[in-house]
Amino acid sequence: MESTRGAAGRRRDAHPFRVEVGDLRRQPGKVRTLRIGAPLSELAVSGSAVPEEEPVELEARLESVHEGILVTATVRARWRGECRRCLKPTSGELVAEVRELCVEHGDEETTYRLDGDELDLEPIVHDACILDLPLAPLCGEGCLGLCPECGADRNLEPCSCVPAPDPRWAGLSVLTGGRAESGGGRPRPRQGADGSP
Ligand SMILES: [Zn+2]
Ligand SMILES: [Zn+2]
Repeated sequence: MESTRGAAGRRRDAHPFRVEVGDLRRQPGKVRTLRIGAPLSELAVSGSAVPEEEPVELEARLESVHEGILVTATVRARWRGECRRCLKPTSGELVAEVRELCVEHGDEETTYRLDGDELDLEPIVHDACILDLPLAPLCGEGCLGLCPECGADRNLEPCSCVPAPDPRWAGLSVLTGGRAESGGGRPRPRQGADGSP
């Protein structure tokens, strides 16, 4: 293994997702696989977040290509959030598959940055987490949520609130009511027919 400059070594400690790729860049076609697990900050969307103390796991395959380094990776992290329906804490694991090209002086819209012999995988890991975090997590598919009237958790016990009239049902009752009154196509009541002399 080549000797590592002190400064680079110190920077790697502070940025665990930063890796030396000088050997790869000098040998097009060469592949290296690596695993890194480290916490990352600022992984949050409106409904969920990866807690700061929770490690994010990266399993990556780095391939030296003509343009730079092609990164194919799986990113995993535990997240916590709040159930959209009942507001109880909920959690899960995100698993994101990514395939990104890292180039020097490339188009920042479509590629990630390569700094000479140093590749910082953190932006890739960060973006993969943000894209995979659920915006509206549920504690379970069958969560019944809170009663909009009294706020009771309907997963624990049914409340006695009368459900707000649903416009669709209201329309239906008007329809049946109208039919009963007019008596249009219905058969004559048997009692009346029998009673008439
Ligand atoms: Zn819920
Ligand atoms: Zn209620």
